Amino acid sequence: MMHRNTLNKEDYLEVIHTLIKEKGYAMNIDIASHLHVRASAVTAMMRRLDEDGYVVYEKYRGITLTPEGKKVAKSVVNRHSIINRFLRMLGVDEETAQKDTEAIEHNVDPKTLHRIDTLLKFAEENPEWVKKYPPFKEYHKGITGHEKAEVTLSDLKHAHELRRGSRE
Ligand code: ZN
Repeated sequence: MMHRNTLNKEDYLEVIHTLIKEKGYAMNIDIASHLHVRASAVTAMMRRLDEDGYVVYEKYRGITLTPEGKKVAKSVVNRHSIINRFLRMLGVDEETAQKDTEAIEHNVDPKTLHRIDTLLKFAEENPEWVKKYPPFKEYHKGITGHEKAEVTLSDLKHAHELRRGSRE
């Protein structure tokens, strides 16, 4: 199994989107802190994302997402939410679920994601079925579906710290 050593543009767009949502703006230094990378890495990626039409990057004024950037970010957040809920439902502990969500969300095929989403919906609608599998009990009393639907900045920061730790 190969570890993904570099963060890709989706990781950045996800964090920028979440920063803007929670704080109202996204600055290089915040992005670096939440992705657990150096500011110079953020600067290089912002130039690339700007060239590719995903962000508008103005060094001293922060970063905004273009409509295309927003579209990609929302798709990542949606994948994040589905995969995270699925792993938690399986009984995976929170830290591992966060770390693995970040790893899986960029590589999952939309068809697979759709099946997982269908399973989650089925589980929500059939609590009796869920209770038959022991680890699902936790899911049932702890995380109920859509409460966990949004990704938060502190979740992202923690997840990237964990992933960084497992790379070193
Ligand atoms: Zn994520």
